[in-house]
Amino acid sequence: MNKKTPFTVVNTHILPEVRECDLEQEKYADMADFSLEIHGEFPKGSTLLKKLFAFREKEGYPFIVEKWEDAPSEEGYCWEITEEKVILKVASDRAFLHACRTLKQFRNGSFIPCGKVEDYPQISMRGFHTNLASCRQFEGDEVRSLLEKAGKFILNTFLMEYNERFPFESHPAISSCNAFTREDVCSFEKICEENAIEIIPLVQCLGHNAHINRLPEYGKYFEPDHPDGRKSAQLCPLNEESFTLFTTLAKEIMEAHPNGKYLHLGGDEARSMGMCPKCADFVQKYGAGQLFVDYINKCAAFARSCGRIPIIWDDMLSRHPELIDKLDKDIVIMVWDYWTTSDPSPITVFRPAERGIVIDKSMAEDGFAKLEQPEKLIAETFARAEDFEALAASNEGSCLFRKYLGEKFPAYCTAFPFVDLYKEKGFTVIGAPTTLGNTVDDIYGLPNFMRFRKNIFAYAQKCKKYFLTGMITTSWYDFAPEILETGLICTANDLWTE
Ligand SMILES: [Zn+2]
Repeated sequence: MNKKTPFTVVNTHILPEVRECDLEQEKYADMADFSLEIHGEFPKGSTLLKKLFAFREKEGYPFIVEKWEDAPSEEGYCWEITEEKVILKVASDRAFLHACRTLKQFRNGSFIPCGKVEDYPQISMRGFHTNLASCRQFEGDEVRSLLEKAGKFILNTFLMEYNERFPFESHPAISSCNAFTREDVCSFEKICEENAIEIIPLVQCLGHNAHINRLPEYGKYFEPDHPDGRKSAQLCPLNEESFTLFTTLAKEIMEAHPNGKYLHLGGDEARSMGMCPKCADFVQKYGAGQLFVDYINKCAAFARSCGRIPIIWDDMLSRHPELIDKLDKDIVIMVWDYWTTSDPSPITVFRPAERGIVIDKSMAEDGFAKLEQPEKLIAETFARAEDFEALAASNEGSCLFRKYLGEKFPAYCTAFPFVDLYKEKGFTVIGAPTTLGNTVDDIYGLPNFMRFRKNIFAYAQKCKKYFLTGMITTSWYDFAPEILETGLICTANDLWTE
């Protein structure tokens, strides 16, 4: 047939990168010639395929779509394209969508290069998170655009944190003046449904509820303000009415996003444990860690009663690793670390003994001269130089954690070592790097993207090496929404390919 084609070279810049790709040189199939035969129920994929190409249904040129029975993943697809015949096998309707997105990137007009492609992801949960209250510039259209891009680059999970930007009916006073409309929320749900993206709602069960306590009438649900005058952002874990407030708000958001398997309870940075008299009494008897774990287990039971798998951030638990065994085993732990960019890493997020980002004192000599960028800037901006040997032996929690730090400790530690601890304890773990987090190391007025790029890449490598369930890249802080797109694409690519 050898029709004249507009190709000079085949486009190889496919995102995410295709796993197995064996294309024939200078041979192209004209999709317009084919007649479509779809065997099986694949409504989303069929619709998208027909949108991509105007099939003229020519006789003798079959384009056969069928189920890939022994696919290595529910999201896998493969095809063989010759000038006269196309066989596309898909493991599911979602996989069919993925195949269409790859076909779209290969296409030049109606032409697709002949050859074979086999493709499936390394990591099953590939996600993105946005805190829509801290990213205040996001309008409804911009959220819709970001969700569509998540779909386009084959992410399948979106962790949605609304806070005061949800249009609450049960507690309308909590919604801010720039809250999304009900129509917006429905449209987010619809776009995710069309793109086979699962929404995980994040509703803060404990801390980070300043958006509620700004209203005087809600003060009774909160711990007392800090001694330095700062307003408390934390619900009281022993006040039954506070728990009811949390569950009421969570139910409303889950009703708006009814299709997900998970509920993220937040639970991070609860800095007011034991402040009210009732909590103080409990903490004196049993400790702050116990108060936290008991409350999280209670919130997890609520999530379960709504048919959801509970998720929490890990930082409170990593402050009290001795309590990990008391946490319900079906709680998924999401480990956030925005500073590790290599493995092994000279920079470690070490939370036991009330520490944060730590670098061994031997690496801090000569102004971090042993480090290269971006680690040098990360160390200068965030890290605290410690005698790491002594720190890791300093209390029960630290000792428990010591064995996961690797052979090059104390100068270098295994990247994301808390993941290893939680895994060994039998928990399901989700990794959480960032593409916009703790932006105090901006360069020329823009976020330090090299930190985020390497953080996402290093975490994706960890996920693959340790067979983690998934990774969700977080985003915080109020920049123009477009700034998140590169991080979204990095996440999609790093988690899909080897
Ligand atoms: Zn309390």
